[in-house]
Amino acid sequence: MKVGLVDVDGHCFPNVALMKISTYYKQLGCEVEHATIGYYDKLYISKIFNFSPEIELGLIQSNDIHKGGTGYDLKKRLPNEIEICDPDYSVYPQYDFSVQFFSRGCIRNCSFCVVREKEGFIMPQKPMNLNPNGKHIEILDNNFFANPEWKSAIDYLLDKKQPVNMHGVDVRIMNEEQAYWLNKLKHLKQIHIAWDFPKIDLVPQITEMTKHVKPYKIMCYVLIGFNSTPEQDLYRVEKLRELKISPFVMPYNKSDPYQKRFARWVNHKAIFNTVKWSKYK
Ligand code: SF4
Repeated sequence: MKVGLVDVDGHCFPNVALMKISTYYKQLGCEVEHATIGYYDKLYISKIFNFSPEIELGLIQSNDIHKGGTGYDLKKRLPNEIEICDPDYSVYPQYDFSVQFFSRGCIRNCSFCVVREKEGFIMPQKPMNLNPNGKHIEILDNNFFANPEWKSAIDYLLDKKQPVNMHGVDVRIMNEEQAYWLNKLKHLKQIHIAWDFPKIDLVPQITEMTKHVKPYKIMCYVLIGFNSTPEQDLYRVEKLRELKISPFVMPYNKSDPYQKRFARWVNHKAIFNTVKWSKYK
């Protein structure tokens, strides 16, 4: 049987679902490839991002098409026999890193985020096999330290001795012990935290975190245009500047002129470091 994979988002990051589908069908003796041309007995089309443009199948044909991923349907799951498979990294030979989850879901239910609706409350998850050619690990947990088994995840990562890129660190819940262990990992890039809600003052928590993690190792996302005023936006980025932490502004509406301009001011560090907002705007 010939199985075709279609990555609608365009191969810019390994698609875990497609890699698991590949493992499953290869175990059954099937031929699996990125669909290009011709007939496939089964065709799996995955789309993670809503904004990815729909793909034209062109000369790809199949009478058994399965579509999935957040970009199509928040609730659709892989069948359990596929979900439990490890990823087949030969689907993406261009990548020299691994992707890993120690948990799915989240303890929070932020109004602009689909994680709770899609994955539910936080649940620990057994780590998957790593990329045999991987040189670092992308950790894709939504909220790493909300996982009740976060310490075994840290032990696992220390044991692997590979640099990590940590995506979901919720500074609101981070305690001293967690900050200590976070600092023990070898970080490939800055650690990403977020200050999305202006009504919550994160200065005490961030200050506490910087007792263990040097500020230059931290980058903080700042959501604007969703639930904040321009004054609250400026307050957050200036507080981060004071704490020597790099802010990165995420505009909720990328076509809004103020949001675009404010994001450009903050995110271009040469401008942010030399020009005040009052002058720039
Ligand atoms: S904490 Fe992050 S992952 Fe969790 S619901 Fe909020 S935005 Fe989503």
